[in-house]
Amino acid sequence: MPHAEPFSPDDLYCVYCHAPAAGPCAACGALCCGDCVELIMGLIARRAVCRTCLAQGYRPAGARVLLRIGAPVLAVLALLLLLAYALR
Ligand SMILES: [Zn+2]
Ligand SMILES: [Zn+2]
Repeated sequence: MPHAEPFSPDDLYCVYCHAPAAGPCAACGALCCGDCVELIMGLIARRAVCRTCLAQGYRPAGARVLLRIGAPVLAVLALLLLLAYALR
């Protein structure tokens, strides 16, 4: 018996490989499965970004800022701790 299957939109499936989607890309909003995204450390939480956006150069601002600011601050803090111990 002919059964007209309604075309199901892509909103539940990965737009790249049509596996069940895990969530939207943080950059372009396309629904992706876990295999088609990379998890990138942001300032607050990890963000899933699809490989297409990564290939186009998308980088979360948080990760770079955190490295640039966080590393020197940690180094200075470690130095101060060392000094505090040495001067005691
Ligand atoms: Zn996929
Ligand atoms: Zn994307």
